[in-house]
Amino acid sequence: MTIHETALPVVTDLRVALGERIVLPGDDAWDSARRAWNLAIDQRPAAVALPESAEDVVHVVRAAAAAGLRVAPQATGHGAGALADTDLADTVLVSLSRLRGVTVSPQNRRALVLGGSHWNYVVEAAAPHGLTAMHGSAGDVGVVGYALSGGLSFYARTHGLAVNHVRAVQIVTADGRIVRASDDENADLFWAVRGGSGAFGVVVSLEIDLLPYADVFAGMLLWDASRAAEVVPAWAAWTRTLPESVSTSMRVMHFPPMPQLPPFLSGRSLVVLDGAFLEPDAAADALLAPMRAFEPEMDTFARIPSAALVMMHMDPPEPAPAFSEGAMLASLPDDAVEAFLGACRAPGLFIAELRHVGGAASRRPADAGAVGALDGDYLVVGIAMVPGAEFAVGALAAVRGVVAATAAWHSPSLALTFIDGGVGREHAFGDAGRRLRELKSAWDPRGMFAAGHPVD
Ligand SMILES: Cc1cc2nc3c(=O)[nH]c(=O)nc-3n(C[C@H](O)[C@H](O)[C@H](O)COP(=O)(O)OP(=O)(O)OC[C@H]3O[C@@H](n4cnc5c(N)ncnc54)[C@H](O)[C@@H]3O)c2cc1C
Repeated sequence: MTIHETALPVVTDLRVALGERIVLPGDDAWDSARRAWNLAIDQRPAAVALPESAEDVVHVVRAAAAAGLRVAPQATGHGAGALADTDLADTVLVSLSRLRGVTVSPQNRRALVLGGSHWNYVVEAAAPHGLTAMHGSAGDVGVVGYALSGGLSFYARTHGLAVNHVRAVQIVTADGRIVRASDDENADLFWAVRGGSGAFGVVVSLEIDLLPYADVFAGMLLWDASRAAEVVPAWAAWTRTLPESVSTSMRVMHFPPMPQLPPFLSGRSLVVLDGAFLEPDAAADALLAPMRAFEPEMDTFARIPSAALVMMHMDPPEPAPAFSEGAMLASLPDDAVEAFLGACRAPGLFIAELRHVGGAASRRPADAGAVGALDGDYLVVGIAMVPGAEFAVGALAAVRGVVAATAAWHSPSLALTFIDGGVGREHAFGDAGRRLRELKSAWDPRGMFAAGHPVD
């Protein structure tokens, strides 16, 4: 793929203005600059910008606008799968990997987060103040991509989606201005960006509320996969009895034999229950007892520093090639569990996961933005590794198989952070779609911003 002819003068201008902060095809740094966290996605933009300040971002957006180029913001590339169907040949990929940092205000339990930061930055900055945040299962997921598309954490059933904890954004809009949006300033843009995310501009910082937890009762129970037929239905029945203080996940996982994995994982198929209890230890122990009665071979549940919760789910610590797909389930009756278990055996599948949602995550706050809740009590997700192009077809079939198996119980709501590719895209924003499209026309009339979840 080559740079579009009209792009050449502008990328040359950008190179003059920003030096090595603009990387072009043929540069030594080209392959590393265009590489997403998700190594299965081969991103080929016209250029990659590596801004180090909000002013750098302004410069890039103005130059791209003047040349008729598009701009795709990216923090880490964990969500690059959602961008994979978009042709980036006329697009400047704005990688925010050099715009990272967090300032915590403990008095008002708030953090100012630079646009490329991932959750480890927030958690590490918040922990000394006895605070934590609405992060997801992996610490290296970007705050903006996760939080502005919903963001489902192990605090969700008590505290709702992460997006409802965003209080303000600073965003470089299509006209090349840095705009602050909050309930009090540019309230329409603030509504839109909480769901519309990168379709409205490049977020250079956001302000989020923190949670008052220095520690949390959390951990995992682990069984051999031969126990799946008894443990998974038991988990589903158990979740129906739980208070909103408990958020858990149930996974069937298949690990290849790999020397870098610990022996309890390498070459094994497992059933893993993990999650967090916002309860005193005695109450948490009592709530967990019915699942401990299934005598797991490993039980790590204990009170841990809340900062350690980002490691609990055993997500890959390094960039990895993967396909994933997810859907919300209105409910999880016994026959849905059976259908899920049938799909877990698909060749090539790495993880089939059920997350208990509902509670506060399914209640939309009055002041929410375009996305404010997930309609449905469970999330189903399939994940397959794609170590080479020859695995792509099988991997896609395996992850789609997990989602398709439970189709009879799907809710129309989409958990955007778990949607890659074009699946269900036309309904991505539900009832908010029309207003989002109107606001997209107002704030980005030329459709300059290419987002993982487009508003069009
Ligand atoms: C290992 C792993 C674990 C995960 N765990 C969870 C989980 O527990 N809960 C959950 O809800 N999701 C989870 N996710 C999904 C994750 O939230 C999404 O992939 C999300 O899009 C990642 O955000 P990112 O910024 O890291 O990704 P990126 O690919 O960098 O960004 C995704 C999209 O966000 C937008 N964006 C990112 N940064 C900016 C910015 N500064 N300005 C404007 N737009 C921006 C863009 O539209 C971009 O296309 C997980 C994903 C992985 C791979």
